Amino acid sequence: MKNNMDVELINIQKKFGPNIVVDNFNLQIEQGECVSFLGPSGCGKTTTLNMIAGFLEPDQGDLIIKGKRMNGVPSNKRDLGMVFQTYSLFPHMTIFENVAYGLKLRKVSKEDILKRVSKVLELVKLPNVADRYPKQLSGGQRQRIAIARALVTEPTLLLLDEPLSNLDAKLREELRDEMKRLQQEIGVTTIFVTHDQEEALYLSNRIVVLDHGKVEQIGKPWDIYNRPASEFVHTFIGKSNRMTGIVAQVQKQGLSLKSDAGFSLTAMHRDQVFTEGEQVSIYVRPEKINLCIQEQEAIGTNVVKGVVKLTSFLGAYTECEVEIGHVSVTVRIQSAQQQLSHGQTVFLEWKPEDVFVFPGKGNTR
Ligand code: ATP
Repeated sequence: MKNNMDVELINIQKKFGPNIVVDNFNLQIEQGECVSFLGPSGCGKTTTLNMIAGFLEPDQGDLIIKGKRMNGVPSNKRDLGMVFQTYSLFPHMTIFENVAYGLKLRKVSKEDILKRVSKVLELVKLPNVADRYPKQLSGGQRQRIAIARALVTEPTLLLLDEPLSNLDAKLREELRDEMKRLQQEIGVTTIFVTHDQEEALYLSNRIVVLDHGKVEQIGKPWDIYNRPASEFVHTFIGKSNRMTGIVAQVQKQGLSLKSDAGFSLTAMHRDQVFTEGEQVSIYVRPEKINLCIQEQEAIGTNVVKGVVKLTSFLGAYTECEVEIGHVSVTVRIQSAQQQLSHGQTVFLEWKPEDVFVFPGKGNTR
């Protein structure tokens, strides 16, 4: 193992009865990295985290933390900090006692406990709540305390299992910012479990996308979004318009496609190899489509005429549903850009490099 790796999962497998719920999971996490496990409900995120935490044992494979094999080592001997979806603070203890709990177990001196608890409460921006009880705090404050409690022991690894799910949208965003700041400030190696792709993109250095217990892709947020390894990854992260069609021609400069809606388009080559006549799924993201009122404004390679069916104002941007033959395409435009009316003819234009092509007529599972 390389020296700067804090965590390594080697061929980890977990079965429940006959069902393999985590299959051949391989991952290396560098010191200070924040890695998200992202995927739909039931894909195996929590099971993997629970194996790292020591709540479950893998059936196969090795789990290494700081160079030591951890299979069979009890959770409390793994030097972890953990925060869960529910706040899990002890209700009968004050905030100070809650945060100090792990330090007391480690027989840290009273003087040091006082110093470290005060410091960590400052860090989560709640320096004046030490004497209160959990029920006297808001949901967001309680979750900050849960984070403080996880950090106070200065763990090797911080495990976060959907810590923002129980908060309302505004608080969620606030705490998300706060967690990013904390993670960067302290530099603690972190694994973050979420089914929220925006949270994963925002918080992580790298994302592990999981589906049905299998790793679909491991990569930096930019790569996951712009270079998806599979149709599943592309459709799970962000919004995308899907069309079906066939490969009309494979050329040096790209693929010529014929959509089932009747129009032709060009896509840039990616890693996948296609043959002429092959049935494919074609995707373009709403924000990559340029909407033009006049035909002469649409000068790109892929230009299609359509009719506005619906517009939805969403503050910073407006989403328009544009019908092209029997296909409906969502386009995201700047709200200030223009006023569109129902039934208006428009011209959509997008670049070949923004077209994603996958084999078959839908392999998103
Ligand atoms: P969620 O986002 O809903 O929490 P997840 O991705 O964390 O989902 P897991 O909780 O890891 O998914 O579950 C993975 C699969 O394993 C699911 O099909 C689940 O039903 C199954 N599973 C989890 N725990 C057990 C168990 N103790 N016994 C049997 N099956 C289990």
